[in-house]
Amino acid sequence: MDFYSGDINKLIEELAALPGIGAKSAQRMAFHIVNLPHSRVKRLSEAIIGAKEHAKYCQCCCTLTDSDLCPVCANEKRNHGVIMVVENPRDFIAYEKTGKYDGVYHVLHGAISPMNGIGPGDIRLKELIERLKGDVEELIIATNSSLEGETTAMYISKLVKPAGIKVTRIASGVPVGGDLEYIDEVTLLRALEGRTEL
Ligand code: ZN
Repeated sequence: MDFYSGDINKLIEELAALPGIGAKSAQRMAFHIVNLPHSRVKRLSEAIIGAKEHAKYCQCCCTLTDSDLCPVCANEKRNHGVIMVVENPRDFIAYEKTGKYDGVYHVLHGAISPMNGIGPGDIRLKELIERLKGDVEELIIATNSSLEGETTAMYISKLVKPAGIKVTRIASGVPVGGDLEYIDEVTLLRALEGRTEL
């Protein structure tokens, strides 16, 4: 693409490399950005750099946050004896948005996928096992209903059940292969309420 200046091309390329943004959207966004007042562009770029520089993983549940503990782990009113295991921070947010779950979470940052060479050691399982040494009444496995999500659920269940911890799996009302983040709140809550013991 040599129709625009090198700098604009560079911006389009960077934007197009982001998830869910095609070449046309990237072009539209780039033109929009160069037409914004300088102060807005500065704010945008500072927000990107600030989020990147301050982002860290919660020391307890491993979600992305900007302090040592995320707001959910730091909240004493939450039920810390119930842990919902999700694949990524987006699923965490999806459940949090329902406003009806009062337990805490554990974010795996992925799922076991032998086909893609992702084993148990490649996701945040070690941290989960460490947490189970405390008082845990129930572990709710809310990984996606994809092959990887199911494999991960079975793996965790086999690992944890001998310790006498109640392990449940959210109901499979969610479409196969469906990412939790795209499912509406009612369906999420139904999946949570209809969870069954593994
Ligand atoms: Zn946390």
